[in-house]
Amino acid sequence: MTDPTPYEVFAIRYATVERKSSENFIGGDAHEAGARMDYFVWLARNAERTFVIDTGFNAAAALKRKREFLRSPAEGLRLLGVDAATVEHVIVTHLHYDHIGNFDLFPRARFHLQDRELSYATGRYMSIPFFSYAYEIEEVIAMVRNVYAGRVEFYDGDAEIAPGVSVHHIGGHTQGLQAVRVWTRIGWLVLASDGSHYYANMGEGRPFPIVASVTDMVDGWRKVRALASNERHVVPGHDPLVMKKYRAPAPDLEGIAVRLDAEPL
Ligand SMILES: [Zn+2]
Repeated sequence: MTDPTPYEVFAIRYATVERKSSENFIGGDAHEAGARMDYFVWLARNAERTFVIDTGFNAAAALKRKREFLRSPAEGLRLLGVDAATVEHVIVTHLHYDHIGNFDLFPRARFHLQDRELSYATGRYMSIPFFSYAYEIEEVIAMVRNVYAGRVEFYDGDAEIAPGVSVHHIGGHTQGLQAVRVWTRIGWLVLASDGSHYYANMGEGRPFPIVASVTDMVDGWRKVRALASNERHVVPGHDPLVMKKYRAPAPDLEGIAVRLDAEPL
C-alpha cells in the first residue's frame, strides 16, 4: 500500500493565561513556580484536504474566564491562508469551552466527535460542578443542534477519517476525549490535545487535575505514544513549550503559529 499524501500540521496560539504550576498537577507541584497555559487550535492540510482541529474560544469567553485573548482562532487560520467560512471538516477533540467555541465561524463544517463525549457532556456527571466546570452549556447545546442539523460525524473509538488522518478515543480528561493522528513528512504525528496538557503530565507521570478518570488518563499517555512514529512527535494540548520547540512557518507568524511536522528542538 502506498503511503498517504503527507500533511502539513500547525499549532495556532490564540490565547494564554498565567497560573500557578500547582494547578497543573494532581497533588500540586513542589516547585510552585509560575506557569503559563497557552490555548491552541490546530490545522492539518495537504493539497487535497484541510482539517481544523478544535475551534477555540472567543473574546467574550476570554473575558468571562479571565484569559488573555490574543486573536480569534479564525484570524490565526486566515494568516495561514485558511478561510474558516469555507472549512469542511472540524475534528473536535472534546467539548470543553476552550475547544468548541466559535463554531458560528465555521458554517460549512462537519464536526467529527466521539459518541462518548456528547453523552458525557449531556449526562449525569454534569450535575456536579467538578465535572461540568470546563463545559459551557450554550456550546454543548449548540453541538446538540448540530447533531439535529445532520452536521456531526460520530465515532466510537478509533477511526480513519481520511487517508493519513485518524481519531483515537483516549478518555481520561473527559470520557470522550479523542487524539488525532496525522501522516506527515516526519512520520505519524499525534495531537494529544488534553490527553496531556503539558509535556510534564505524560513525561513525568503527573496527571492534570481536571479529570474524569485518572487511570484512563494514564492509559491515554501510553496510547498516544504508541500511535506516534516517535514519542517526540506527540504534541500536548496547552504547553507554551510547543511555541519554543517548533518554528514559525514565516517570520510574520512568530508567536502566532508553529509548524509541527518538524523535529522539535
Ligand atoms: Zn483544553
